[in-house]
Amino acid sequence: MTILLLGGTTEATALAHLLAARPDLSAILSLAGRTSAPRAMPIATRIGGFGGVEGLVAHLRRERIRAVVDATHPFAARMSRNAAQACRIAGVPLLALVRPEWAPGPGDRWTIVPDMAGAVAALGEAPKRVFLTVGRLELAAFEAAPQHAYLVRTIDPVGAVALPSLVEIRDRPPFDEAAERALMLAERIDVLVTKNSGAAATRPKLDAARALGLPVVVVARPPRPEGVETIAAPEDALAWLERVHVPAP
Ligand code: NAP
Repeated sequence: MTILLLGGTTEATALAHLLAARPDLSAILSLAGRTSAPRAMPIATRIGGFGGVEGLVAHLRRERIRAVVDATHPFAARMSRNAAQACRIAGVPLLALVRPEWAPGPGDRWTIVPDMAGAVAALGEAPKRVFLTVGRLELAAFEAAPQHAYLVRTIDPVGAVALPSLVEIRDRPPFDEAAERALMLAERIDVLVTKNSGAAATRPKLDAARALGLPVVVVARPPRPEGVETIAAPEDALAWLERVHVPAP
């Protein structure tokens, strides 16, 4: 059975490792190609978009894909929508592997907003020192609030962004709470901005903000396509693939 694993997350990589140990389940991992130097993967990998729903339907048919696991980032809304539509059209079973959201706990000072424009508005008019951890592709929204000083952490260089006060840090998860606290203190951060990605590897910034009593602007996840079976653990995705797998007679 050929499985298409839509990746770009820690969970997708974990499932790829589980699949690498299963020669009876042949799988291809698909990455969008956003990261210039992605980590080495344990299974065959293809890189780049499919060409919308139509392109994905053609790919599913051409490659005789028997099951799709959508393990893209919770904010990769277009890919998830396209996968749901294409699988419906092509009659291919689809599972979404989605990690749980972060939820605020005692001591957290969160403002939850629906999108990046909401995050910009939540920063307010008065100039602040902002720790921006929303990914480089979302930075343009903050050009609407040039009065703030931004500390931006991304995996790849941010490129052209029209912000007068922007300091870049190049780093990739996992991060550590003590180091996050030290960074926020050294940079005299007033507020943290993050998407609700739910990743354990990036969670320490929230714990650091709580420990320092700092406010956090949290961008809520976009809605997911309806009618797609969804689970959280890579091991459960493997069990689903075993159920879907009908051995050839
Ligand atoms: P998106 O807006 O939903 O996707 C835009 C387009 O990129 C899709 O329509 C598709 O192009 C292509 N694409 C996305 N994921 C793909 C995949 N796994 N394999 C092949 N093509 C893919 O997604 P995005 O926010 O740009 O995210 C792109 C990738 O980065 C995803 O794999 C995601 O898991 C990862 N990522 C995203 C975020 C985030 O915050 N959005 C954070 C960390 C990692 P076609 O229409 O041409 O098929």
